[in-house]
Amino acid sequence: MGLLRNYRRYFDLNGYVVTDSMACADYILLVTCGTNENRVKFAEHYISMLMRQKKKHAKILVTGCLPKIGVVPYSPDDGVYVAKTHQDIDAFFSAKVSVGSVGSYHLPEEIYRDTFTQAYRVYELSRCTRFCLSRNILVNLWGRLLVGFYMGLYRKKRIEKKYTIITHEGCNNQCSYCAVRFAIGNVRSKSIQDIINEVHAGIQAGYKDFIISSNDFGQYGADNGTRAIDLLEKLLSIDRDICFDLIYVHPKWLFDNRSKLVPIFSRSDKIRLVASSIQSGSNRILGLMRRGYTVESAREQFRDLKRACPSLKLVTQIIVGFPSETEEDFKATCEEVRRGDFDVVFCYPFSEKEGTDAVVLPDKISAVVRKRRLRTLKNIVHLQQVKRFFKEKCRPT
Ligand code: SF4
Repeated sequence: MGLLRNYRRYFDLNGYVVTDSMACADYILLVTCGTNENRVKFAEHYISMLMRQKKKHAKILVTGCLPKIGVVPYSPDDGVYVAKTHQDIDAFFSAKVSVGSVGSYHLPEEIYRDTFTQAYRVYELSRCTRFCLSRNILVNLWGRLLVGFYMGLYRKKRIEKKYTIITHEGCNNQCSYCAVRFAIGNVRSKSIQDIINEVHAGIQAGYKDFIISSNDFGQYGADNGTRAIDLLEKLLSIDRDICFDLIYVHPKWLFDNRSKLVPIFSRSDKIRLVASSIQSGSNRILGLMRRGYTVESAREQFRDLKRACPSLKLVTQIIVGFPSETEEDFKATCEEVRRGDFDVVFCYPFSEKEGTDAVVLPDKISAVVRKRRLRTLKNIVHLQQVKRFFKEKCRPT
């Protein structure tokens, strides 16, 4: 059974009984992510689904990023409450033991799979977007059958059990479009020893695949004098048959540390996947986004890592329709995707987040153009996926 362990502990310590049955739940805690348009829509969709399925007087408490950086379009009259802080959660549940005191947590991948199929009282929503994205892909592509076939196989592959470890929370970067740093604050890291202990706990529980999760792995230790590169070395020195997905790593950190990373990636094939968001193929737009790298430097670094470790999977994200994005800028982004350096590309339309610097940038791109560009880019992405699929399948063994 998959429930977030820290919340489970929190409820246990506060005298609540955690249930897997929606019909029995008096309270439903929904932990959301509001970092992009898709996730916000998915969260809203999920809340309305919970409202339909919950028992009559059950209360839904929505927490996580969405209430902090967006608007939850329901009220207590609908049975929906919001908690922006741990204190709000504690007040809602009249908790004697606070949620902030129940310690760090790690999330076995089975949690995420469970949430796809069954309504639980506690959710970790951000991972549910995987399902949402897969569905979008199926709907959007002109070659629907091929991609449906591809995604079917791809999704099967992803049902491997993975153990997620969050190395740190928060972000010190200053990306002009991002509200995450307002919602989560500056970097707060676990100690290297705690993280290594979590890996061993995962190994003992039978896991071989680990997701090392944060907003930017490169910022690990910015608050306590340790360094991400040291953590990486420690993880890779664990003498077991295990592998890691690094989600997410800022391209700037990869580039700045390339002289150390390339030898590390050549020595070890334990890092199976790196998710690093390039966001745009236009240097002008990257400048406005305050990403701190050029598309050439990011490309060079991705290629170096792939050369060092050919089995490495590269995942990226792209925002289309950023303020003042011209057709030329957009073409440069499409060209970057066509180069085929990425194994998986997720694309999103630019969405304004209140309080961010991007909101006041001039030359907004209309919703119609954003939508058209998104569709164009998704089609390129899907075509790349199909090509990649057949290339992999036709490769001589
Ligand atoms: S790296 Fe940039 S986009 Fe990512 S969380 Fe930090 S500020 Fe936001």
